[in-house]
Amino acid sequence: MALVNLLGMLDHARRHGYGVGAFNVPDYETLQAILDVAEELRSPVIIDVAEVHLKYIDLDDVATVVRRAAERAPIPVALHLDHGETFETVIRAVRAGFSSVMFDGSSLPYEENVAQTQEIVKICHACGVTVEAELGRVLGGEGTSERFEADPDQFTDPAQAEDFANRTGVDALAISFGTAHGLYKGTPKLDFGRLNEIARRTQKPLVLHGGTGVTDDDFRKAISLGIAKINFYTQISVAAVERTRAVLQDDPELISYPLLLQRAREGVKEAVGHQMRVFGSAGICDRFPDICAECDACVLPNDSLDTDPPSQTPTASTQQMTRDETTELIKAVTRAVMEGLQQQR
Ligand SMILES: [Zn+2]
Repeated sequence: MALVNLLGMLDHARRHGYGVGAFNVPDYETLQAILDVAEELRSPVIIDVAEVHLKYIDLDDVATVVRRAAERAPIPVALHLDHGETFETVIRAVRAGFSSVMFDGSSLPYEENVAQTQEIVKICHACGVTVEAELGRVLGGEGTSERFEADPDQFTDPAQAEDFANRTGVDALAISFGTAHGLYKGTPKLDFGRLNEIARRTQKPLVLHGGTGVTDDDFRKAISLGIAKINFYTQISVAAVERTRAVLQDDPELISYPLLLQRAREGVKEAVGHQMRVFGSAGICDRFPDICAECDACVLPNDSLDTDPPSQTPTASTQQMTRDETTELIKAVTRAVMEGLQQQR
């Protein structure tokens, strides 16, 4: 099937009580392993490309590869920009063919986060691209053996989350309630009461960032309370490195690079497969063979922004635009595309 956005995928997950894993892809070996295990386990999957990983992988190239792979895959695949930090990166991802983006304005003052997210939602929805935003801050870092922990002062405020969801029209909201990016110091203590309250007030699919270190039971409980998308990466990287290290220890004379990569891929597949089973997404495509029709998400224009507009848009708000709003929007998209083109030169 074609690439899908998050709208139908996360709606289906919420209605049927499971979560969809969003796994970071900083290289093609990891990508291949994730797609392989998703197909084997018949699980929907979100391929996450983080802005901080663009030093390792090219945005346009990975978009082309994932779109082709998604067409062949008998499972729903979404291609999502993770932690887009600027308007320009978000527009680049839309142009490259991403089906979904995250704009992370969580470090901005609240009103600025609202204003910037609103603008991005308007443009992305007109292109059939879904938007995730973040409120409250999930701290930490990745790619390091340093350990991090959550700061309750940075947790998401439920009343503010409700206001934010209503004013921005985002499709998914990343919240802070006890996790941290990277390796966790000890075991994270999740604030389930807060999660429950945010889910009740926003009625949006919620996103858990910093999944590494969270116990299987806590994942299941968080999903039952409203988490629909789980970002998971650090443990995947750890698994690949551990496999590689073990192979080299067993055979210090090894010179076959493809063999080394194959072992690393096996580690990635094992880590991702475990999470898919815990999240309850494994086997979903067998339980719901009509998932394609049900998720109704194949609404993206196939090539570029100058193709015909999609027949269905992600939210009702874009269907109610006045002629002036539509004209403004087209101008904004054109401006953004031109700026992107100029930057690339
Ligand atoms: Zn994150």
